[in-house]
Amino acid sequence: MPTQNSRHAVYVGSFDPVTLGHEDLIRRGADVFDSLTVGVGINPSKSPLFTVEERITLIRSTFEDLPNVQVQSFSGLAVDFVRSLGAKVMLRGLRTLTDIEAEFTMSLANRVLSPELETVFLMASEKYTHISSSLIKQIAQMGGEGTAKQLENFVPANVIPALLEKIRPS
Ligand code: ADP
Repeated sequence: MPTQNSRHAVYVGSFDPVTLGHEDLIRRGADVFDSLTVGVGINPSKSPLFTVEERITLIRSTFEDLPNVQVQSFSGLAVDFVRSLGAKVMLRGLRTLTDIEAEFTMSLANRVLSPELETVFLMASEKYTHISSSLIKQIAQMGGEGTAKQLENFVPANVIPALLEKIRPS
């Protein structure tokens, strides 16, 4: 649990589902900061594949080896969630030039909303830059035989059975 003086960062997203790209960012973030909270956003305008509880369970089991990573859901603005935890840093990942543009705009808006918060960016590892949750859902939906094996290149191992069960219930 973060203490008042610890370096506590918060990483928010949809994580529908958590990917190898998210995992890489969370592991690197947990190494840089004393404590890292993963915030799973409840967004009423999106229809996620996994419920928020399912997403939290998948993230928790991916990081059960990291005692300084906590996972919880939030609704409303990310800056309000970060502030409610007493944290000062929002962690974000950058994959592409498009991400840079969008994240730059968002961090400026967040600065207006919450001037005391800082956004810290980590560049995606080159081997994961192409990975997004939506791409993974497409592969799981449209892939044929051997999809489970192929998904190993995109999501943590514990996510594969959950993803296949969601998409093709037995
Ligand atoms: P959102 O629904 O807000 O786009 P995501 O779960 O897609 O949520 O992303 C949350 C954060 O994780 C963002 O900062 C995004 O740039 C970052 N991210 C997503 N995929 C990757 C990846 N493959 N490598 C590094 N960072 C990533």
